Amino acid sequence: MTSTLPPYLAAYPANLTEPVARLLAQGRLGEALRRKYPAAHAIRTDRALHDYVQALRAEYLRNAPQPSKILFDGKLQSVGRALGTHTRIARVQGGKLKTKHEIRIAAVFREAPPEFLRMIVAHELAHLKESEHDKAFYQLCRHIEADYHQLEFDLRAYLCHLAAGGPPLWPATP
Ligand SMILES: [Zn+2]
Repeated sequence: MTSTLPPYLAAYPANLTEPVARLLAQGRLGEALRRKYPAAHAIRTDRALHDYVQALRAEYLRNAPQPSKILFDGKLQSVGRALGTHTRIARVQGGKLKTKHEIRIAAVFREAPPEFLRMIVAHELAHLKESEHDKAFYQLCRHIEADYHQLEFDLRAYLCHLAAGGPPLWPATP
């Protein structure tokens, strides 16, 4: 049986993606995700997101650069790899080159389980220190959230569910 999945899980081996494709084809992927992640988090505003990110930063990456802006971004499409973005803006200030770090979290994470939010915030915080998606980067992600890889996989499965026309699973106003 060949099943087609939206491309969010394209980088994973078939033995991992086939069960997801099967659930999607059976119309049961949403139900499976809801069972695994029953609750939504309550961080809905940029202010709340800011405090949440800063608390994690203080706990795990105390000596990382300070982000200049932290916000949910409704214009970020949850396509490709742009789940969140981390922008490094270099500008000259008082004769010195200063770097500003902005953390923008895709709006899909506003209405999501706490595990998914923590995963994407770990990802963006790790970018304060490591710009590439390399080994050192993923080590930092796992330092902040030990279950990082499984959570990224499950988040990508959720994006497949949405791309296939499934309803949001953790709406703020059900
Ligand atoms: Zn990244």
